[in-house]
Amino acid sequence: MKKGDANDPLLLQCLPLSVEDQVVDGYTTDPLQESSYMQGPGILQKYHGRVLLTVTGACAIHCRYCFRRHFPYAEANPAAGRFEETLAWLREQEDVSEIILSGGDPLSLDDDKLGRILQGIDRLPRIRTLRLHTRLPVVIPERIDAAFLGNLEKLSSRVVVVIHANHANEIDDHVRQAMGRLRRAGATLLNQSVLLRSINDSATALAALGEALFAAGVLPYYLHQLDPVQGASHFAVNDARALKIIASLRARLPGYLVPRLVREEPGGAAKTPL
Ligand SMILES: *Cc1c(COP(=O)(O)O)cnc(C)c1O
Ligand code: SF4
Repeated sequence: MKKGDANDPLLLQCLPLSVEDQVVDGYTTDPLQESSYMQGPGILQKYHGRVLLTVTGACAIHCRYCFRRHFPYAEANPAAGRFEETLAWLREQEDVSEIILSGGDPLSLDDDKLGRILQGIDRLPRIRTLRLHTRLPVVIPERIDAAFLGNLEKLSSRVVVVIHANHANEIDDHVRQAMGRLRRAGATLLNQSVLLRSINDSATALAALGEALFAAGVLPYYLHQLDPVQGASHFAVNDARALKIIASLRARLPGYLVPRLVREEPGGAAKTPL
């Protein structure tokens, strides 16, 4: 963040503003109706073959546009003393081959606790892929330390790390080095972003982000349309503009650097491409 710049694209992602108090039609506390997809505390299954666990409510940044701003993390934590039950449930799921640790941020757990979770999942007979959704390699790149990498190297599952960066200014030397460590540990590296008004809502900003990610060994994966969560309406970009931005991005970048523009719709079999 640049000191003294009230419009800094990184500052705007985390600075609470009074506009968040505006009540806007259609913006709710659980926009994805996640409470109805909960199979057990913090166990979310919406899509075929994949189960997402919210292992903690703590994040490196509490992003102001976060769709889980109002998520009941305290009650929905499969790792808090009940992890054996979660593993027992997962063992029964014959068609699940990928587990996603999300949150909150799974890397906000300490290495002992995270290691126990990762190894418990890795030992399940049908799990082939372990995915981590995390913003920590961007916000605190030092978190990718020897103890964490040691945990990853013990796993026999393939590891996918999906980081979360919205703007090229988030990727500096420290982040590039952290991503290098993850890559050398064998992880596949992807990025997801949210399309955010005044932060990254231009082809220029997204092209710079795609190039910065690639220079760090990361491929863009999803560009999410904002989920209509209460308090975040000022970040919204309408679909017509979003499609225009993606079209002009596609005209500038190689195909592998263009993220998939998607929206999450409750009840969908996958994220919906726009
Ligand atoms: C987004 C999401 C996933 C991951 O979807 P992919 O398309 O595989 O990246 C899995 N489970 C839940 C509950 C999700 O919200
Ligand atoms: S890093 Fe992700 S889960 Fe955490 S506050 Fe930000 S958007 Fe929400």
